[in-house]
Amino acid sequence: MAALIMDRRQFLKTGAAAAITGTMAGTATAAANNNSQDISRYAPLSAEPEFILGPDGKLTNNPNQRFAFTKCFGCYNVCGARIRIDNKTDKILRVCGNPYALSTQSGNPVAMNMPPQDAMQQLVGEQGNENRATLCGRGNAVPDAVTDSRRVTQCLKRVGKRGENRWQSISYEQLISEVVAGGNLFGEGYVEGLADIHDDKTVANPAYPDFGPKKNQLLMTGCSEDPARWAFYKRFSEASWGTPNLGNKDSYCGHQQVAGCALGVEDGANSGALPTTDFEHCEFAIFIGTNPGLSGISLNSASKRLADARTQNPNFRYVVVDPILRSLTTSSTPDNCEWVPIRSGGDTALMHAMMQYIINTERYNTSYLASCSQEGAYKAGEINYTNAPYLVVTDKKHPLYRKFLTAEVCGKGNAETKMVIDAKSQQPTTSDSTEPCDIKFSGTITTEDGQAIQVETAFSLLAKRVNKYSMADYAAECQISEAKIAELAKEFSSHGRRVSIETNTGCNASDGGQFGFAMIMLATLVGAHNAKGGMLHTGSMGFENTSPLYDMMAFEHAHISGFNAERSGDYRQSNEYKEKVKKGLNPFPSDLPWNETFVQDNAGELLVAHANGNPFQFKAWIAWANNPLYACSGLKDQVEESIKDPKQLGLIIASDPYFNETNIYADYFVPDLAQYEQWGASRQWGSELMGDVVSFPVITPRTPLNAEGNRVCMEQFLTDVAKQIKLNGFGENAFKDTKGNVKAIHTPEDYYIPVLANLAHSDEVLPTPTKDDVSFTSVDRIFPLLTKRLKAEEIGPTMFLFTRGGRYYPIDNRYEGEFFNEMMRWDAQFQIYNEGLAHITNFHSGEYLDGLPVFDKQRFWDGTAIRELWNETEYPFYFSTFKHQLRSPYSVTLKSITALGESNFIQMNETDAKKYGLKTGDKARLTSPKGASIEGTVQADSTVAKGCIAVPLGYGHTAFGASDITIDDKTLAGISERRGGMAVNAFNAVDPTRKGASLYRDSTFGSTARHGIPVAIEKC
Ligand code: SF4
Repeated sequence: MAALIMDRRQFLKTGAAAAITGTMAGTATAAANNNSQDISRYAPLSAEPEFILGPDGKLTNNPNQRFAFTKCFGCYNVCGARIRIDNKTDKILRVCGNPYALSTQSGNPVAMNMPPQDAMQQLVGEQGNENRATLCGRGNAVPDAVTDSRRVTQCLKRVGKRGENRWQSISYEQLISEVVAGGNLFGEGYVEGLADIHDDKTVANPAYPDFGPKKNQLLMTGCSEDPARWAFYKRFSEASWGTPNLGNKDSYCGHQQVAGCALGVEDGANSGALPTTDFEHCEFAIFIGTNPGLSGISLNSASKRLADARTQNPNFRYVVVDPILRSLTTSSTPDNCEWVPIRSGGDTALMHAMMQYIINTERYNTSYLASCSQEGAYKAGEINYTNAPYLVVTDKKHPLYRKFLTAEVCGKGNAETKMVIDAKSQQPTTSDSTEPCDIKFSGTITTEDGQAIQVETAFSLLAKRVNKYSMADYAAECQISEAKIAELAKEFSSHGRRVSIETNTGCNASDGGQFGFAMIMLATLVGAHNAKGGMLHTGSMGFENTSPLYDMMAFEHAHISGFNAERSGDYRQSNEYKEKVKKGLNPFPSDLPWNETFVQDNAGELLVAHANGNPFQFKAWIAWANNPLYACSGLKDQVEESIKDPKQLGLIIASDPYFNETNIYADYFVPDLAQYEQWGASRQWGSELMGDVVSFPVITPRTPLNAEGNRVCMEQFLTDVAKQIKLNGFGENAFKDTKGNVKAIHTPEDYYIPVLANLAHSDEVLPTPTKDDVSFTSVDRIFPLLTKRLKAEEIGPTMFLFTRGGRYYPIDNRYEGEFFNEMMRWDAQFQIYNEGLAHITNFHSGEYLDGLPVFDKQRFWDGTAIRELWNETEYPFYFSTFKHQLRSPYSVTLKSITALGESNFIQMNETDAKKYGLKTGDKARLTSPKGASIEGTVQADSTVAKGCIAVPLGYGHTAFGASDITIDDKTLAGISERRGGMAVNAFNAVDPTRKGASLYRDSTFGSTARHGIPVAIEKC
């Protein structure tokens, strides 16, 4: 082996003919000097390389292949990818990472101004160890999805009953005509078409007129994870059609944590935040409900940065707090990392316990917390400040009760200026002071006009809050010993700002929002936000795509009226509330849950509203790239009957490359593009740098051509429906350039090319690439499409975007002293007390929410503790789910993924298993409190917290080819390896305190909760 390695290195150094990615089979010829080298003996099974390195040091494309940058959509991370394709067969030969993108070239992406040929040479030979530009295992497997034998590649109409998986192929034109016009389409009676439903005069349900007109009875669900495609979808649903009923998956995935983290960053409850760790300088990091690089945040980037931190940062130590030990925790340096098992649903208790320790032992960052203004922060050497010293009015009779005391009330200024206590003089002063404040004040303030007002600082209220329960109470709740809690808190407060705590989708009990708030608060106590070695909040952001060239929304928008059916909004504005008040009734609780925190857009809750017929049932549903019946916890049995029955829901149109567990109920199926066939632009989830991954169709789409010669896809379908119904924003006069010239949208390119041109011209205009750059990256393939739609001077910068596979913020000068630079910071007033949240109403109790983080028992919507209904004797375990490293919602179609394991397991602690007479390999049945059960194989060991049962997501499929599919009387047999394992979301419990169909909800944000739910186990 050693000889072979030596051989290869020497070979590479000769410069005669070098493989850049992959190795060669057969003969590769250096075009520059026409030398031939047979290197097939090194890797006889590998494909030819895509480039030849000539003696002049230049790369020449292999004429049999093409190379391009694109996106990976193997999961919602959307990493930057590079791809090579066989020119003859259009077959994808290999995908790897894009060296310009941080998500795949972790820590060291090449600068945008480096030509792509040079960027690829960075990956060669010895330097390739440092510059890897990888995709994860799932990303490498994704090309199989394009050619999957069960992919939908024709327009389909159902045969037989909904969900029977029997279809006939029809022309695109027939599909458009039938869904628009309606009729007796299935011999089951008249079906209203989209043209009938687009009625903004008739009220949808006279019993609930405040939910708007009949056109609101179009439900649209989709995938928001490619923002460019999602923007197109929203353009249709909101601006052109005008329905408020647009749902996605965020709210049943991890929305509550993102929204919860934002409670500690910005006033109010209408924002999102998700911090990441500055691995390179961090000294102590806690990953809670996730492992670094798992659960969504790019494995490519985080795992390499973690590995580097473990091996090259001698001060780095980290702890993973999770009910289950996943990868990346055990290490060759075990002293530097640790797994701390936690009871599923116990996360908030741990956060409050750690805050209690830090506050009671005065290990917080006093100088940071004592500033009450930006100028004060600068003076103290800080970059941001908090509202810790602000005085909250605690006098229940005062009009400002629960609000900050203002300078106006005190006769010292306006209402925007708040009051604080100067630390030195102990006198009240205004929040524009630059002097340190007293953060512990509690007492009475006398105003200029002699009023005495009881107040307390935000920090003092927090100190009381975290001491509401004893350390023993918290320890019992999270099942982590008091000593371990103290150890974690002590270490977290022992490294100055060089500490971090991050989460990602694993803390979704019914207090997930409150957990996020408390988690951010821990970092606020020690001043870790925006700090070198601390936490960043700019991750996952794309460039602000302005409209320097084209105003894509310059058309007359549809009027949206009425609440959305999942009741996001202010219940007090509803007819129900007003009627109750008019009749002298207590308006609380509302009949069904309402939320005025961060807008939900929860596809699951919209379907629950439909199942309950309240406020109405939908008449049509367009389901694109979304699988709520499989992925939304508890949903399936709550809504399935109301979806299957055409009398309850007249028309279902799906658009997707695959049959999934939701869209198999469709009446019509519009085949959609697979990832390498799409135009797109997306932020990189989990990347700490701003950037957009862009894509253009690098292979010929497998979907059919319509009669006009355009590829069928979601965008083409919506465009043609809009044109038929004469909706604004599509067809002629769809948008305008900056000079006011009208532009048309007839195809996806008509939309995406100007959008991407805007991205290339937003902020600083990108340069023009060289001819070599363009041909090297196959961008010449789309040149004719660009010339038809852009002005001559706009083409160069737009092509530049594609020659780099996106637009990425450069990373010179990450830091400004001990903090991140301005571009990487989220400059905010971090919130100890969230005044906006304190004035949002819980529409069940009618009480305000709390401005401080709350630790409470897990509760249903009506406030009943879940353990009151589901006791420990009957349901002794706490359930948890997690994302397996190589599984994602769509990964079951990937042969090399299912080959690694077809089934998931019921994972539990071996001590618990013993108590129930179970051991690894036994078959067991899990039962949830809604009476549903799943059966599977037990894996009992010491990698699961005691008292918990965990089952990974992404298994137990019935669609994606797992079941027989009949198209035009030909049956494709179900593929057994796609059926393996248990589907856990359908099994999970719902909220029995709600009326009718329901989901179990986060208490602050109404998102679907799925963790910490009691379950029972028995041997089968
Ligand atoms: S993390 Fe997701 S997007 Fe990134 S390479 Fe893996 S599958 Fe692709």
